[in-house]
Amino acid sequence: RAAVSARELTVSYRNFRALNGISFVLEPGVTGLLGPNGAGKTTLLRALATAALPDSGALSVLGMDPCTPEGRLGIRRRLGYLPQDPGFHPHFTAFEFVDYVAILKEMKDRAARHREVLRVLDAVGLPDRRRKKIKQLSGGMRQRVALAAALVGDPELLILDEPTVGLDPEQRLRFRELIADLGDGRTVLLSTHQTEDVAALCRRVIVLDGGTIKFDGEPPALAAVA
Ligand code: ADP
Ligand code: ADP
Repeated sequence: RAAVSARELTVSYRNFRALNGISFVLEPGVTGLLGPNGAGKTTLLRALATAALPDSGALSVLGMDPCTPEGRLGIRRRLGYLPQDPGFHPHFTAFEFVDYVAILKEMKDRAARHREVLRVLDAVGLPDRRRKKIKQLSGGMRQRVALAAALVGDPELLILDEPTVGLDPEQRLRFRELIADLGDGRTVLLSTHQTEDVAALCRRVIVLDGGTIKFDGEPPALAAVA
C-alpha cells in the first residue's frame, strides 16, 4: 500500500485555491517537491501532516483519512513532519523538545519514550549536545533537532519542508546523507529549492506551479520541462 495517495485534491484558504485538483501516489524512496514560491508546496505538506484540511478530492495518508478526527489523530502519531518553522521553545533543551513531540505522539511509557528520544538524537548526530538549550544551538544544530523530532517513532512516512535551507555547504552535505539513509525503505517527501538535493537524493520529482502539478517523473527529464 502506498504511504500517500491523492486524487483531485483541492485545498483552499477562504476562496483562494492553493492546490487545485492534484493527483499523485507516493512510493518508498525520496520524492522531491519543487516549484516557485507560492506554488502550493507548503500547503501540500501541511495537508499531508493534517495541518491544512482538503476541501475536496480524496486523500489517504498511511491508509488513514485526514478528513476525519480519528484519521488525523492516527496520522499525527505515525507521521514524521519537519515543518518550515518547527515552533521551538527556545528555553527547551533538544532533549526536552523532542520529548515534547514524543508526548504529542502519545508515547505514554516514560522510560521507553526517553530511550526513543536519545535514539533519534543519536541518529542525527546530537548526542553530546542534548543538555544545551535550543537558543544556544547553531542553525544547523537546530535543524538536526527538528529532524530528530520528525524521526520519533520511526515513521514510515517523512514530510520534510526545506530541511537544508539556511545550512552551510558542509552541514547541507551531512543532512543530505542523513536524508538518503532515511529514504532507504521509507517514503520521504522533500520540499527543496536546492538542485543539489534533488540530484543527490531524488528518484522522482513533483513540480508544482499555481496549485497544479506541472511535472511528475525522474529528475533528469526535468531539463526538458524547465
Ligand atoms: P509554497 O510553499 O510553494 O511557497 P504555499 O503553499 O506556502 O506555497 O502557498 C501557496 C499559495 O497559498 C500562495 O499564493 C500563498 O500566498 C497562499 N497561502 C499560503 N498560506 C496562506 C494562508 N494561511 N492564508 C491565505 N493564503 C495562503
Ligand atoms: P528517569 O527519571 O525516568 O530515570 P531521566 O529523566 O533521568 O529518566 O532521563 C533518562 C535519560 O534521559 C538519561 O540518560 C538522561 O540523561 C536523559 N535526560 C532526561 N532529561 C533530560 C534533559 N532535560 N536533557 C537532556 N537529557 C535528559
